[in-house]
Amino acid sequence: MAVGEGKTNSAKRSQQLQLLSAETPYRPTGLPILDERLRGTKFVSLEPKSVLNSPQQTGVDFWSLNPYIGCEFGCTYCYARYAHRYTVERAHDGGRLSDAEFHEFRGPHGWEAFEKRVFVKDRLLGVLEGDLRRYFRSVGPTVRSSAPIVIGTATDPYQPAERRFRLTRGILERLARCEGLNIGIITKSPLIARDTDVLQRIQERSDLEVHISLNTVDVGLIRQVEVRSPMPAVRLRALKRLADSGIRVGLIVAPVLPGMTDDVPHLEALFQAAREAGARFVHAGPLRLYPAVRDRFLPMLEERFPHLVARYRRAYEGRSGAPRDYARALAARIKKLQVRFGFPVNEGMADRYGRRLAPAQGELGL
Ligand code: SF4
Repeated sequence: MAVGEGKTNSAKRSQQLQLLSAETPYRPTGLPILDERLRGTKFVSLEPKSVLNSPQQTGVDFWSLNPYIGCEFGCTYCYARYAHRYTVERAHDGGRLSDAEFHEFRGPHGWEAFEKRVFVKDRLLGVLEGDLRRYFRSVGPTVRSSAPIVIGTATDPYQPAERRFRLTRGILERLARCEGLNIGIITKSPLIARDTDVLQRIQERSDLEVHISLNTVDVGLIRQVEVRSPMPAVRLRALKRLADSGIRVGLIVAPVLPGMTDDVPHLEALFQAAREAGARFVHAGPLRLYPAVRDRFLPMLEERFPHLVARYRRAYEGRSGAPRDYARALAARIKKLQVRFGFPVNEGMADRYGRRLAPAQGELGL
């Protein structure tokens, strides 16, 4: 639990922020620490110039919004580590982190900071106003549905920090006042059910799709690959709560981990659970092993799944995406399951948000 979490009301928080800004309006080195947990996680204030990223800025086919950088859930396969590394390096280059702080922020292996130094985008709502003006100018009133905004592409918007900082809720409150948007939210956290009321308001005026992320119902396995994520049953219960409240919600099975979660019984169990929880869709994609992910994922694989190491090294040698034959075989397997369980076929992130979220190309042999 965060130090002071549960006791800190909004007045105390704003007083704390005033103090921080009075004491350190701009510090040449050091970023204000907003809170910390006993296990060592620190929540670090970051004041961004913009929070809504355009496709031109990111090179993907949709607008993206991430209230936090870093994520305590600590999935070993998480590709968002690159964004955190970039932020830390930029803060160091810009003189806001001293050399000592930079090394402390990176941690002994370089990947710990992603889970233990979570950047909180402070004063985000003011910045969002300007961003929304830019968005509306750019896409115009009639084509918003073809310019989706996806929340949670580079960290979980309902990670534990959200309980304390409520940035995602603030964003949704703002978007609920807009009309004709096309909004997607990706999360592993049941905390999203807290915001059912706002989600319902959004859905009255805009298209909304919630993607609950879960790649196995095997509790033992999930703790091998995701350090602190919510348990499968908890995520499925949240999915059901949203579905029962009329929210268009489905399951995203990503990443599918070759040799671990890609066998038919495994996937069947997920499809069955999704069906029972009221999911409207299920889609899936294989693991992408970006350079920033390898430092974290491969040592885990060596320690816990040594029999898979050679296979992964071979398959992902010189590439981030899964081999093409593998991706094709997996897509066919998913399609069969979609048909069998009565879900829309091939309706996935790629169809809704663009090709960059398409399942990776993928020869591991299923
Ligand atoms: S929940 Fe998402 S953002 Fe957080 S560590 Fe896991 S994959 Fe990364």
